[in-house]
Amino acid sequence: MPDIVIEIKGLKTWFKTPKGVSKAVDGVSFSIPKGGTFALVGESGCGKSVTALSIIQLIPEPAGYIAGGNIILNNRDIVPLSEREKRDIRGNNISMIFQEPMTSLNPVFTVGDQIVETIMLHQGKSGAEAKAAAIEMFEKVGLPDPAGIFYEYPHRLSGGMRQRVMIAIALACRPDLLIADEPTTALDVTIQDQIIKLIKELQAEMGTAVLLITHNLALVYQNAETVGVMYAGKMAELAPAKALFRDPMHPYTVKLLRSIPGQEKRGKALDTIRGTVPPATSYPAGCHFSGRCPREMEGCAAIEPPLAERAPGHFAACHLHDPEFMAKPWSKPLRHEPDAMPPLSVPHDKRERLLEVKNLKTHYPVRKGLLKRVVGHVKAVDGIDLVVRKGSTLALVGESGCGKTTAGKSIIQLIRPTSGEIVFKGRELTRVKESELKPVRSLMQIIFQDPYSSLNPRLTIKDTIEEGVRALKTGLDKKGRLDKVTEVLERVGLTADMMWRYPHEFSGGQRQRIGIARALAVDPEFIVCDEAVSALDVSVQAQILNLLKSIQRDFGLSFLFITHDLAVVEYIADEVAVMYAGKIVERGTTEEIFSNPRHDYTKKLLSAIPRLDPGLVSAWKLPDHKPGR
Ligand code: SF4
Repeated sequence: MPDIVIEIKGLKTWFKTPKGVSKAVDGVSFSIPKGGTFALVGESGCGKSVTALSIIQLIPEPAGYIAGGNIILNNRDIVPLSEREKRDIRGNNISMIFQEPMTSLNPVFTVGDQIVETIMLHQGKSGAEAKAAAIEMFEKVGLPDPAGIFYEYPHRLSGGMRQRVMIAIALACRPDLLIADEPTTALDVTIQDQIIKLIKELQAEMGTAVLLITHNLALVYQNAETVGVMYAGKMAELAPAKALFRDPMHPYTVKLLRSIPGQEKRGKALDTIRGTVPPATSYPAGCHFSGRCPREMEGCAAIEPPLAERAPGHFAACHLHDPEFMAKPWSKPLRHEPDAMPPLSVPHDKRERLLEVKNLKTHYPVRKGLLKRVVGHVKAVDGIDLVVRKGSTLALVGESGCGKTTAGKSIIQLIRPTSGEIVFKGRELTRVKESELKPVRSLMQIIFQDPYSSLNPRLTIKDTIEEGVRALKTGLDKKGRLDKVTEVLERVGLTADMMWRYPHEFSGGQRQRIGIARALAVDPEFIVCDEAVSALDVSVQAQILNLLKSIQRDFGLSFLFITHDLAVVEYIADEVAVMYAGKIVERGTTEEIFSNPRHDYTKKLLSAIPRLDPGLVSAWKLPDHKPGR
């Protein structure tokens, strides 16, 4: 039996809210051995991060409190400890890496000062000893020039470097447990790969137990020994990773796995989960997944399924696996959704070119001195050629800072390029005067990554969508514009009455639908999707990808899909262009690029993607309803 570093037993973390008690975590149990990795997965709002914050004892009091259960670290329950003892444990025994390093690094101190402070506080080393240990740690996490970086401020480092600094600080005290909460979500695939390898190396060297919280299920498949699937405050399924991916038992796990995009699902709709996670103040008395479950039975909403062992080491909380429940009259199915995914192929005309980009350059001047003289140029886009065909999707991929977004904005003339040609529907755009661009603007639209920051918080959804219609579709009167807003909202799966609400009243997925509705309202033929699904949960991402594909099929739209997520590219794109340092290094059909990449950079990008075994993907089936088992 391996040494258990942390054991969570029946943990309940509740919050007092004006709407009642919010049971964010409601009786969760699992353990992690020395050197082991336990992954916690599930949609946002399922209690994963609250579980992590409970373990590191950072639940905001007095609203939040541990209502029950134990957190046993190295055989000692840490729940009843005093605040001072808990502070000692944080840093000495447990460290945490957060998704966004800027929120946990102090911007007014150098990164060296911050790690030295941690080492001195927790290891009682002198300043000189702590500095030497810090530089050694920076070297271990693969930071270039560790002694130089020691004197840098966080804002002068790239996202990947800041994440490494945070890992260095988290590991500097050789914690027994490292909690990594979405540690690589915001990072490029190659950096993500390096960070995960680094955590694994340090884990092997120091025997650290790792709690990995992520929505990247392929990453879990490749790195965790055990997986817990959390849904609405409870553990829905708990199993060794290989068993869970081979034979998922809980309908929620199956739905979650099947919503991951990938090459095997091309031409089919992605599986989606109806509705959203209910608020933690109003979970059903029985199974929390009732209401959304495709296999719900009459008794599910009232009778809670226990998390029981259904195969050796494989636990699932679902009545479908309980012969006693299935023999009862309340096991009658309430709904039984079909298991097969409907086809969603989009015929596209390979011959007709909608848009052609030739030798496009967008350079920014670099100015210096009092007189702001131009001393050089940043060549953000440096001579690219692209072709987008009618009704098809071209993916533009590459790492952050390679010029993808500038290219997208230059193509639709949000930024006027320095030189080159953009031929759209036979018309060259770079030499057209701004005042004559209006008819083209309605045909070319853009959808951004973060719909919240691109929606004006003071405008209702009606005003937001109508703004573009008013400017670009001047032939429509007031009623015509209102009809248009209604039509596009319904087309993206929202209802007409939602037009009177403000952006903050919507979830992330709904806001992305509003972004799509706003683009559709001016009848475009070409849409740039700039990381349009990158910030979404995998289940919501699947809904938006299905929506984009269906509007492409219905309206014959063409997309330029800018993304760093190659699994999405494999699923949605017809053709791919790989961009590196302002240039296109490789172009081809999706099949060509993924099966036979030629350029070294493309090879490096593709080899860094965590992958699921295609054989597994085709085997994921919802459990059968077998009455009287
Ligand atoms: Fe829950 Fe019933 Fe669905 Fe099982 S079948 S997940 S118990 S709603």
